[in-house]
Amino acid sequence: GGRPHVPAPASCASMQPRVAVGGSAFKVYRRRTLAIISHPDAGKTTLTERLLLYAGAIQKAGAVRARGNQRRTTSDFMAIEQQRGISVASTVMTFEYGDNLAVLLDTPGHEDFAEDSFRALTATDNVVMLIDAAKGLEDRTRKLFEVCRLRKLPTMTFVNKMDRPAMSAFEICDQIEAEFGLACLPIVWPIGDGDRFRGVYERSTQLVHLFGRADRTGKADDLGALPIDDPRVLEIIGEEALATLREEIDILDSCGHTYDADAVAVGDMTPMFFGSAMTNFGVELFLKRFIELGLPPTPRESSVGAIDPCAAQFSAFCFKISANMDRKHRDRVAFVRVCSGTFVKGMKVNHSRMPGKTLALTRPTQLFASERETVDVAYPGDIVGLTNPGTFAIGDTVYTGGTRVVFPGIPAFSPELFAYIKNADTGKYKNFNKGLSQLLEEGAVQLLYPRGDDGQTEPVLAAVGALQFDVVQQRLRDEYGVETRLEPLSYSVARWVVGPGDDPWEALDAAGRLFNVMYAKDRWGRPVLLFKNVWNLSQLATDAPDLELQSWS
Ligand code: GDP
Repeated sequence: GGRPHVPAPASCASMQPRVAVGGSAFKVYRRRTLAIISHPDAGKTTLTERLLLYAGAIQKAGAVRARGNQRRTTSDFMAIEQQRGISVASTVMTFEYGDNLAVLLDTPGHEDFAEDSFRALTATDNVVMLIDAAKGLEDRTRKLFEVCRLRKLPTMTFVNKMDRPAMSAFEICDQIEAEFGLACLPIVWPIGDGDRFRGVYERSTQLVHLFGRADRTGKADDLGALPIDDPRVLEIIGEEALATLREEIDILDSCGHTYDADAVAVGDMTPMFFGSAMTNFGVELFLKRFIELGLPPTPRESSVGAIDPCAAQFSAFCFKISANMDRKHRDRVAFVRVCSGTFVKGMKVNHSRMPGKTLALTRPTQLFASERETVDVAYPGDIVGLTNPGTFAIGDTVYTGGTRVVFPGIPAFSPELFAYIKNADTGKYKNFNKGLSQLLEEGAVQLLYPRGDDGQTEPVLAAVGALQFDVVQQRLRDEYGVETRLEPLSYSVARWVVGPGDDPWEALDAAGRLFNVMYAKDRWGRPVLLFKNVWNLSQLATDAPDLELQSWS
């Protein structure tokens, strides 16, 4: 309600991305990494499919579909994971568009695996926020956007399903601005919605891109573009729609934001697009402008300051581990994002957790659309899959050169479900421990240890979604031959104690005996408090007002 929010005219001639320069500048500059955040059903699978289609990476729409339809239940998830080819390919899709190379990181659809999405967001330079035009902002988008905010990721918005009855475009902008504090900068503006959707107006060129419901599967189905003053526009979209459009453009131009490259680069301003992924409308326009407006690989903070992507020394970090195709060998693929220098097959690198040891990066693979290919060379922005069993954990850094480089660890989501995990067959104690520790390294689940006050010693599985528990149990059974039992705990909130002072255990002791709290520690020995509910958590503000808490590790 109220006054429509008014975004800015776009002077797109000035919309050049800020370029990192240096030795391998060209290779770096042509790359664009992106991850799509959205609520289930907003159309992520459909959009992904169309993007690949425009890039010529897949021959016909539908190739990604099989995955999209199958992700709702545990067994489906497991089935997908077992078809390793698909699972691996879905981690990252690399495709060429013109002179550029887009690296699309998958963010899993099921909310129980939100943590995987979260990690993908640590490995990308750009985010595309996909919104269902009828629904506006939804929960999953909100949650994932928090991470984008934290990382100051440039975020572009694609408002999808304009061919269906939609909220007003002004209303959607308002919502984004009010809730996320993002200034909206429409690059295109929709003409009508639902049955009366006629296309979009591109502000920089003053072209009307006309929507024709022609071909739902083919490559291009828009009727083409005409200057807004062309008499045919009036003929096609009608007097009323044209008058409304002119009025709205007027509002945008006179009262909206102006393009600000710096604000876009730090995620304070979002270029906005409207379209219909299903009918293939507005997707190529989006892709073209995304390449222009999106950032190439950017400098990344590390223990030795920001690392420029064009720096000579190689550096990369691991953001995902997944079990390999061949279960018998228990190989695992570590996905690393190249941050600087050049990756060369077989190269020797240092590892952040193994000082004094070098490691050869053998058997690297890269993923082009749906195919796995061996790579010989890779550049900043690329994601390489490494088959080094047991060597990598999520968050590890590898690098060349004499200076130890460590990229900041990847924080974990605050778990909301807790259960003791018990080994049903004590004879398999070794396998149980080994399996748990490997799943832990993969980030399949978090593990906490009770402090022992209540005599319990079994580890506590901590998860964001219940499916994570199922996956852990099933994998312990399949891959390690261990049957386990879960004893759910009635806690729902976890808080890490981080202060006051340098020693959180000391801080906790100083707070005295706390009630309605379970004391635990994480695998690094840091104190974690578990609460039954938020009310008990709020109680702490009275009982121990000085204690400094944090919701993730
Ligand atoms: P995801 O859960 O975000 O991956 O969403 P999907 O891509 O699976 O799409 C969810 C549903 O919305 C499917 O039935 C799609 O056909 C439909 N859909 C996606 N994009 C559009 C669109 O632009 N217009 C309409 N009408 N439906 C769409």
